[in-house]
Amino acid sequence: MKQSSIVPETDERAALREAVTGLVGRYGHDYFVARARAHEEPTALWKDLGANGFLGVHLPEAYGGGGGTLGDFSVVVEAASAAGCPLLMTVISPAICGTILARHASDEMNRRWLTGIADGSTKMAFAITEPDAGSNSHEITTTAHADGAGWRLSGTKYWTSGVDEADAILVVARSGSAEASGPRRPLSLFVVPTDSPGLTWQPIEAALVQPEQQFTVWFDDVPLGPEALIGDDGNGLRQVFSGLNPERITAASISNGISLYALDKAATYANQRAVWKGVPIGAHQGVAHPLAEAYIGVAQARLMAARAAELFDAGADATRTAEASNIAKFAAADASLRALDQAMQTHGGNGLALEYGLADLWFLARMLKTAPVSREMVLNFVAQHSLGLPSSY
Ligand SMILES: Cc1cc2nc3c(=O)[nH]c(=O)nc-3n(C[C@H](O)[C@H](O)[C@H](O)COP(=O)(O)OP(=O)(O)OC[C@H]3O[C@@H](n4cnc5c(N)ncnc54)[C@H](O)[C@@H]3O)c2cc1C
Repeated sequence: MKQSSIVPETDERAALREAVTGLVGRYGHDYFVARARAHEEPTALWKDLGANGFLGVHLPEAYGGGGGTLGDFSVVVEAASAAGCPLLMTVISPAICGTILARHASDEMNRRWLTGIADGSTKMAFAITEPDAGSNSHEITTTAHADGAGWRLSGTKYWTSGVDEADAILVVARSGSAEASGPRRPLSLFVVPTDSPGLTWQPIEAALVQPEQQFTVWFDDVPLGPEALIGDDGNGLRQVFSGLNPERITAASISNGISLYALDKAATYANQRAVWKGVPIGAHQGVAHPLAEAYIGVAQARLMAARAAELFDAGADATRTAEASNIAKFAAADASLRALDQAMQTHGGNGLALEYGLADLWFLARMLKTAPVSREMVLNFVAQHSLGLPSSY
């Protein structure tokens, strides 16, 4: 199945897709699952992606990136997923953290962190969610108290992915003077090295089969120097938004890659498997039509993701870009669940056999319906911003 046929692509993008497909294909889905089951980092693959310039393709050349666009990086993420390796850390380290740093961090901070993110030698986790602040980030309580020239950070983050494999965490916290800004201090962004004193974490047992684990993370009076602050104190809300559209768009790319992977396997199986008089099951419309319908949903989701990336890269109006990114993420998550479910159905009992490499992706695909932004919060956004309906909260 040709990945690029629906989405119009320049020769350069098509070559990028082909190169990533070739590289990740040499590792394949078995490599991904083996790392996931052992809770090991996919170190060799990550290093290879970094060394070939794929992890930093969208990051500034001044910091070792390729100087390309988020649209380019979305191709990397989608192609890697379509080759059987949907790496959540690509969404987190290069897409969210990389974009926020590139836009808001100082030259010094970017030389310290962004160069490594671009070449894959450094990974950065992202911590915004808290036990009582998921969909509603206004409830964040993790706080950085001013301490001399620096800060002391206290609070708890929840569901933070990949802390164990990260060199640092980009933390969204309250800061600034309570007197100056009312009872709710404004948000700021900090880069917290994972070897900081006072920082501990514990894994959350989850159903997902993926190399990255999730953690509850405790910050117990973690000392931070002034260099830990990204951009301006109190400007974190505006700054974090520049990472949220890339998060949604690349999360959509993971879903779309899973869809391509699943439909490709389903089409191959439906062409080969014969149950009645030597006729391949794909000839039965009961098998072919649901797969065709799933393909149509995936094609729509991929076009939407490409459009969202295009708007982001063109620096389009923030609400318009957020609308497209949200819709892309929503459509891709739903389409991938349909595609994966139908691919499993096409395989009959084998759909549940681990050997066929489909069932182990179920919870990852399902997770993307809830995170990084839930289906309901996307519907809220569209209801309010696209349709002009009132908010219930
Ligand atoms: C595998 C995984 C990895 C993750 N990785 C990270 C990470 O690296 N960093 C990080 O910061 N976070 C991470 N998260 C957290 C994720 O972003 C949150 O789980 C998600 O934003 C939802 O928040 P919540 O779980 O607190 O749900 P809640 O906010 O408690 O919501 C519960 C349910 O109520 C619905 N709901 C809430 N408010 C409304 C409303 N107003 N209208 C309609 N429905 C509503 C929600 O949609 C949801 O279905 C991860 C989560 C998972 C599962």
